[in-house]
Amino acid sequence: MKASKYNKIWKMEDGANIAFNYMTCALAEVDEDFINILNQIENIRYDELEDEKKKLVDDMLYGNFIIKDNIDELSIIKYRHYAGKFNDSALGLTIAPTLACNFGCPYCFENEKKGMMKPEVQQSVIDMVENWAKQKKDISITWYGGEPLLAINLISDMSEKIIKICEENGANYSSFIVTNGYLISDEIIERLKKAKIDGAQITLDGPPDVHNQRRKLKNSTEDTFYKILENTKKMKQAGISPSIRINVDKTNMHRVSELLDILKENDLQDLKVGLGQVTAYTEACSSIVEHCMNVEEYAKNTLENQKLLISKGFVNGGYPDYPGIKANYCCADASSSFVLDPEGYMYKCWNDVGSIDTAVGNVTKFNQPPDDEMFMRNVNYILWSPFNHEECVSCSYLPICMGGCPYNGAKNGMKPECEKWKYNLDEVLRLTYTQKKDLPEEECACKDGCSCG
Ligand code: SF4
Ligand code: SF4
Repeated sequence: MKASKYNKIWKMEDGANIAFNYMTCALAEVDEDFINILNQIENIRYDELEDEKKKLVDDMLYGNFIIKDNIDELSIIKYRHYAGKFNDSALGLTIAPTLACNFGCPYCFENEKKGMMKPEVQQSVIDMVENWAKQKKDISITWYGGEPLLAINLISDMSEKIIKICEENGANYSSFIVTNGYLISDEIIERLKKAKIDGAQITLDGPPDVHNQRRKLKNSTEDTFYKILENTKKMKQAGISPSIRINVDKTNMHRVSELLDILKENDLQDLKVGLGQVTAYTEACSSIVEHCMNVEEYAKNTLENQKLLISKGFVNGGYPDYPGIKANYCCADASSSFVLDPEGYMYKCWNDVGSIDTAVGNVTKFNQPPDDEMFMRNVNYILWSPFNHEECVSCSYLPICMGGCPYNGAKNGMKPECEKWKYNLDEVLRLTYTQKKDLPEEECACKDGCSCG
């Protein structure tokens, strides 16, 4: 046996030895026996150990802190990565039924185009779904825009057809919506429920003065904060579990606390709150570039805000965010995920939507021989790989980072952009240990991979 290359061992201020493994994300308080075995693992004869030490070695193997001699960890990470990319057990579609929006947010990366998805494009999407459903693949749809609720009729109609196809073919169906939350009403909630949309992401960018400055209606000076807050409460009452997204940059990062107080006063502290990084992705939002945080600033700020969430009793989001094992990075480098615009153009990344020169296909031509340029864009996105970069191959963060966002990497001259973990993992692990250490084993709500018990 040998020690994993992906161990991180340190001593806490209270004297406890803590071990984390990047391959399994296991986190454990460990004793001197653990440290001694790890340091001498190459000389240890398992069969000659007492039962108690054998049990410890078994646990260390389970958490990947030690591995068998014939295991090559880098090959396993590579295998996971390619298995994730080419996993075709599910079709994941993010559908923008319209790119029109009732809001005009300064950081929005979309170049607005008016108009709804045409019936022939809708039919092509349905045909594509049917093709996958017949092979008993899971179907997962995220409605997105523009503002997708401007296209509620279309969402209702397409959802009804897709649900029927999934039922007839025994395919699992799940659906989610990303909305600014302004247009939600009792009637729309009923339609969303009928469309089996069981989760929604709604954006609130700070307390009322901050939010209203950033999340403005296009054709009205009316404030939007309290209407969205009320709509979020309605969604929660109706059982469509909303999550709150706060888009954070240098101008509002110090105001998150006030928004959390308002959510709490409105009995919404059981919602998941996510902190999104505002980034100037396209010309359409280049005016806000000086306000954006870089990944390091974002990582530190997001952790501070997660500490606030914990201190204010927002318990359901599982804060602080704990790293997970990554296979591929996201929909962009996965072969069975696509983002669709109203004209049927297919993209790999949410940021590309509406820029036809970045499209990788068109759903209306899905069964025809592919256009060479589009095909190569698809291939290049899917084959984006940290293994092409020496700094990633030798990096201990590789199993939880996988080379970062492929879109940003490509924009950055094909240079990987390190994930937030590189900047906040130490503190996340310390905080997680401090939270869990006094919990009785049966109350420890650790996620997969944590072996702190
Ligand atoms: S490539 Fe980056 S920006 Fe695009 S969907 Fe993936 S994570 Fe998001
Ligand atoms: S992108 Fe950065 S943190 Fe991620 S694996 Fe590569 S070198 Fe490591």
